Amino acid sequence: MRYALLGYGVSGRGAEKLLKSKNIHGPDIFDDTIQSYPSVSSCDFERYDKVIVSPGITPDKINIPANKVTSEVEIAYETLLPDAKIVGITGTNGKSTITYLTWQILKQLGADAVYCGNIGRTFSEVVAENNYNIYVVELSSYQIDLLKNFRMDAFCICNVTPDHLDRYRDMKRYTASKLAALKFVDAEKSYLLKSTVFEDFNISKSINFIDPELKKFPVIKNNILDFGRFYADIGSYSLPGRHNILNLAFAMCLADEVYGLKGDVSSVVFSLQSLEHRCEKFAESKEVQYINDSKSTNPESTMTALNALNGNVILLMGGRIKNADYTGMTKLINKLVKKLILFGEAADSLNRQFEANVDVETQICAGLAEAVDYALLSAEAGDTVLLSPGCSSFDCFSNFEERGKYFKDAVNKKLKGCGLNA
Ligand code: ADP
Repeated sequence: MRYALLGYGVSGRGAEKLLKSKNIHGPDIFDDTIQSYPSVSSCDFERYDKVIVSPGITPDKINIPANKVTSEVEIAYETLLPDAKIVGITGTNGKSTITYLTWQILKQLGADAVYCGNIGRTFSEVVAENNYNIYVVELSSYQIDLLKNFRMDAFCICNVTPDHLDRYRDMKRYTASKLAALKFVDAEKSYLLKSTVFEDFNISKSINFIDPELKKFPVIKNNILDFGRFYADIGSYSLPGRHNILNLAFAMCLADEVYGLKGDVSSVVFSLQSLEHRCEKFAESKEVQYINDSKSTNPESTMTALNALNGNVILLMGGRIKNADYTGMTKLINKLVKKLILFGEAADSLNRQFEANVDVETQICAGLAEAVDYALLSAEAGDTVLLSPGCSSFDCFSNFEERGKYFKDAVNKKLKGCGLNA
């Protein structure tokens, strides 16, 4: 079997590792951005049995014969032991959190589980290194678009809100791309957040819907999150905000599908932790709390972070702007934000979108360092300083992790009185 690999990024490297671990020849690598490899357009598909396409590449645009297209996720699936189980998680916001929560719940129950995919290590890389009974895999829409032969034992779409519209052009196509994953799992093992975005689609009646109000399934009452067959007291759950209760609900349903939950499962909730850079409270000083939500790269996730707070927020937003409408945030900003600090490449265009309707004191800063200085100067007892950029980090950082770490360092240094070199 001869493989071509298009795109030598994180997923391409994972695929290569897996093929090497199976002593499979190759693959031949093609990449337009790394000089030492031939370009993708120079690949002669006739010479290969399979073409592993990276999620950043749209196969239709380069006319790869459909029967040859495969992906890092699919080759990982093909090499799994037959009784291994796969939990798939997708959605616009909350994927990584649900992936991590599901894994933590399974581990606490004693399962031999691992998490991978769009979060941290690729599925292929993990499969290359070890055999597990359960793989909890975060899937992006781009990865789903490349799937043909794949099977999951549980799956969820935790929400669909406008994102990646540069690639999908409209919400209907974006939603369809997420729903396409339902082909690879039984309807009874699938969980979707109930939403009007699915109304135009013909969806199996056997699919489970999670009620965003938590009044139907699951039901929340006096801190008890009740799924019928199992329930949990979430009084000790440490992840903030309503959205994190929904994330927990998905994680419990998925864990139930592959490991079976019964009766009172409150004990698994107590020690669940959040991931770094997602509404992460990392400092408190003089009654001001500091929250790093650097993972927020679209307006919806910033709104979610705001909704988890009570007000008096000093909000830092900016970075590289997305092709999204930010004007829907104005009401929430007026209600909960005390000072708005816009930074980076996006600052001016965010300001233009907010100008007409936001009546909150707004400061424009060149970069994040200046934004931190200004935020700390402004903060008073009772305030929350929140970095929830709503934009990608690529104007100044390699990724959201680097941006989040920079923010935490800058704040911590200032709080310790060391000053900061911007
Ligand atoms: P993803 O992997 O889909 O990007 P994350 O779990 O990393 O999602 O969270 C990214 C951001 O999305 C968080 O910082 C938070 O503000 C927001 N978020 C998390 N869960 C949800 C949810 N269930 N609904 C809406 N927004 C959410």
